[in-house]
Amino acid sequence: MTDSILARLSSVPALRRGARQTKLLWKRVFFAPLHALRKPRLRAFGLEPHSAPPIAPLRLAKGCPCEEGAHYCALSWGAMKDFARPSDRSRIRRALKQTAAAIGLDPYASFEAWRVQVSRLTQGKYHRSANKARRLGYASRFVGLDSYARSVHELTGSKPRRSKGLFVWAALAGPRSDLIDTKEPPWRTPCPLHGRATWGAFRTDATGETLVAFAMLVRSGDLMWVQNFIGHGAALTDGVTKMLMFDIMAWLLARSDPLTVGVRALVHGSVEEGGVGLFDWKRYLGFRPVLLDIGDAP
Ligand SMILES: [Zn+2]
Repeated sequence: MTDSILARLSSVPALRRGARQTKLLWKRVFFAPLHALRKPRLRAFGLEPHSAPPIAPLRLAKGCPCEEGAHYCALSWGAMKDFARPSDRSRIRRALKQTAAAIGLDPYASFEAWRVQVSRLTQGKYHRSANKARRLGYASRFVGLDSYARSVHELTGSKPRRSKGLFVWAALAGPRSDLIDTKEPPWRTPCPLHGRATWGAFRTDATGETLVAFAMLVRSGDLMWVQNFIGHGAALTDGVTKMLMFDIMAWLLARSDPLTVGVRALVHGSVEEGGVGLFDWKRYLGFRPVLLDIGDAP
């Protein structure tokens, strides 16, 4: 009975038009806040918020028999699942997904090819900035995991307001006497497909070495992703974060370290996260919006 009434009502053109318009209006109202930030950011890459960004199929090497493979697969899948392609065509699921910011490494034959592109996008500004840091005596290298815990805490609190958001807790906590810089040398997991690389950038002067920027990268199969990347507030204008990023890209694109061989993409969060400063930083460095195809949960 109810069905036949609905069928009769839906055959009235005016009602049908009204229902269609209500549906469209509801969709616009519902999706407006979700698309408000995404729209200008995707448009900067010639994409519309409703259109599907390119899909990047990446294997996390889930079946690897190495001891820590399961841990790194689970860690990476958990960090990337919000940027994964929805398994259906639901607009709501797509709207709730963020879009990964990724550099596909395959097109770059060398670090120099990537650097030239960055220099074109920044009119050489980032390159000059990285060189300025080197001239001022900064240098970066691998460091042991958690081997600069106190310095990392200090540099996190050195600038409470960053493009990624507020880091007030570290600033309020002040120096932490329970944290120590053990300065242990870096170590690697035996399997190059699953592991971590921790980088530190240092200033060296008469008083010794000071950590001024820090980065942590995780590898799982084809994927390398940035787990942490932060610079000291007082050293940012010296170009230390640009220098560190250039050093990381030189390491990745040299493809000589086993931990980098076969890596196909570097992912640094999403294009939606953080302020305009972080978005522009990623855009200038060659990060592009993609949805990841990383399969089911490991
Ligand atoms: Zn492995």
